[in-house]
Parts: sequence; structure tokens; C-alpha cells
Amino acid sequence: MYRAASFGDFKCAHCHTFVSSTHQLSGVNNRNHCPYCLWSCHLDLYAAGDRLSACKAGMKPIGLTMKKGRNKYRLESRGELMLIHACIECRAMSINRIAADDDAETVIVVFQESLALFHRIHALCDQYGIIPLNAESIGIVHRQLFGQNVEISSTWRSLHKS
Ligand SMILES: [Zn+2]
Ligand SMILES: [Zn+2]
Repeated sequence: MYRAASFGDFKCAHCHTFVSSTHQLSGVNNRNHCPYCLWSCHLDLYAAGDRLSACKAGMKPIGLTMKKGRNKYRLESRGELMLIHACIECRAMSINRIAADDDAETVIVVFQESLALFHRIHALCDQYGIIPLNAESIGIVHRQLFGQNVEISSTWRSLHKS
């Protein structure tokens, strides 16, 4: 996704939006997706940031999952919301932290689309041991994106009306 070195402005390979370098100061050490369309690029092979993959195809955000903390007694809602990315060429999958400046409404759209195709996505994710969030997790998704005190956002309501 980053054309130049790790510092400076870049253009998203998927939506072609210009992403200013300030977006890289997003609290995520290894930012690997566009903050606007949330697409990533298949660069890593064995571990995040290794840049060893020869694929280099686009990776589509296909759903959300929850990364559990190390403490297994933690509540689910204390886990971290993650994006699931699937490579459009080789179907490799990865999960990635949502950055503070990622577009929350786009995250909701990804979640919405994943619910529409839930059985298919669940089957794909299963091969990688990833559990996609289902419709029952909407409260968790909203708390993580919009804060504890927000109920269902107007975005979600308008999406459901259409
Ligand atoms: Zn983009
Ligand atoms: Zn790939």
C-alpha cells in the first residue's frame, strides 16, 4: 500500500485517495491498510511487516473479528476489534488492527456486507481459524468504534433502512 519509504504521503492503490503522512501517525506501528477504503495489499508472507510475499495483490476487507486478550477471563467486549482482509488473488487472509483514524462508517459498511454473506465468509475464515463477528456482535462493534455510551448510530440505522 505504501509506495515510498515508511515516511511521507502516499496514494491508496485501491481507491486512489491521497493519504497524508499525518495518517501514518495513527497509533498503529505497522499500518497496512488505507484509512478510507480499508483495503490492504498482500505484502506479508510469514509475519506482519515482513514484506516477503510475491503476491502484492489487493486485500479486501471482508469482515470483522475480535482479537482476544491474553487473559482468557476477559470479557469479549474488552478484546480488540480487528479487520479481516482476504487477498483477491490468492485468497490468503490476515487480521489487522483498526487504526484510530480509520473511517468508522466504512468499518460499519464492511461489517454490514459481511453479514449479508455470512455463511460464505464464515466458511472461508474457518480455514484460517478466524471467527467473524456475527449480527449479535453489533453492540460490541459500536462500542469499539463510537465509544461506550453510544447506542446504535444513525449510520447503522440509515443502512438498515435501505
Ligand atoms: Zn483506499
Ligand atoms: Zn495474495
